[in-house]
Amino acid sequence: MKKNLETVCVHGGWKPTKGEPQQLPIYQSTTFKYDTSDQMARLFDLKDEGYFYTRLANPTNDAVAKKIAALEGGVGAMLTSSGQAANFYAIFNICQAGDHFITSNTIYGGTYNLFGVTLKKLGIECTFIDPDWDDERIEKEFRPNTKCFFGETISNPGGNVFDIERFAKMAHRHGVPLIVDNTFATPINCRPFEWGCDIVTHSTTKYMDGHATQVGGCVVDSGNFDWETCTHAGDELSTVNSQLSTEPKFPGLTTPDESYHGLTYTKAFGKMAYMTKLVAQLMRDLGSIPAPQNSFLLNLGLETLALRMRQHCANAQAVAEWLEKNPKVAWVNYCGLPGNKYHQLAQKYLPNGSCGVIAFGLKGSREDAIRFMDNLDFISIVTHVADARTCVLHPASHTHRQLSDEQLLEAGVAPDLIRLSVGIENVDDIIADLEQAMAKM
Ligand SMILES: *Cc1c(COP(=O)(O)O)cnc(C)c1O
Repeated sequence: MKKNLETVCVHGGWKPTKGEPQQLPIYQSTTFKYDTSDQMARLFDLKDEGYFYTRLANPTNDAVAKKIAALEGGVGAMLTSSGQAANFYAIFNICQAGDHFITSNTIYGGTYNLFGVTLKKLGIECTFIDPDWDDERIEKEFRPNTKCFFGETISNPGGNVFDIERFAKMAHRHGVPLIVDNTFATPINCRPFEWGCDIVTHSTTKYMDGHATQVGGCVVDSGNFDWETCTHAGDELSTVNSQLSTEPKFPGLTTPDESYHGLTYTKAFGKMAYMTKLVAQLMRDLGSIPAPQNSFLLNLGLETLALRMRQHCANAQAVAEWLEKNPKVAWVNYCGLPGNKYHQLAQKYLPNGSCGVIAFGLKGSREDAIRFMDNLDFISIVTHVADARTCVLHPASHTHRQLSDEQLLEAGVAPDLIRLSVGIENVDDIIADLEQAMAKM
């Protein structure tokens, strides 16, 4: 039976049968027992399926990965120990030294560093583009060795909305997949695969967990990108791609892997090629798995994800409208506001709401912003977003405090920018707390 997202949130991944636990058990075990040597040998020969070591597969982790794959509408998913690991694995599964990719420049700071600094040390180069540029200007950045395009559905912390369909078409014209970090929207508010995106990543640390209990990540594959023909399912062979050399564009997927029985992932696994390589090669070798205990906590969060997203969005919309009318507020950036630059894109991609994160500036100095935050009652100052509790962060005083005002602007962070992550408390209380703190500024 085909189920709606709210039902998948509750029932996806774990289907207990007679006498089994109703709640997903925590298989907190490194390894799994067999009765004969031959049983174990058959697993290593890939003749039987089964669990043997938690770095490669664990029933708790697998159940949660399956739930997220179902929520996104993908063919498979793999959990990682953080969102950073998820984005690293998603790229590294198809890029190697000498390769290049293109990314939106309005992405999470941690991802910006990973792509611009750390991947560069591994010989993988990337070009940061401004998604507001026109197609022609962006398409000039594709090179023969470009392997993918990357963006965030809703950027952290800017709140920009990514035009997924436009960039999926562009990536496919050049014979490469589009990877989208869907952390802030969650599959409840946007399902990037429906707009042509090929691979989705998540920091499950945020709304999916929703209670600030675990750091985690996830990679999901749509199964729609054909790594041999370099086309998206249903698309014509791209003209740009057919002009390319006869060299395989994704040799890691389309030529034999000597470290894995000499198998060719695309030949042996079809639509599961990308996922199988991700687990059987990258996770085997790099090992950033989540603890089963953490996956259990993540799963509890997922059970209420649909309910919570509805409340986050309704609360944030009311708070954004209140901030916009407030004489002490200099500016508000929230795509749910009709005057917002990304409102049109939000109506297309996020018709049921975007997320609970608002960026705004107060009139006055950095010190005024600090006094405002110090006077908040239950709204807390934390380096975190997207959980049940409303919280604030002032990058100029916290994450970016070493920078001058000029340097902040160069980094794309307004000195007065306050990131407000609206929780699921009663919205009247949230507004009352903001109001009393502003009164004491
Ligand atoms: C937080 C975040 C990450 C990094 O995730 P961690 O779980 O903190 O490693 C990646 N992308 C986005 C959009 C994020 O908000």
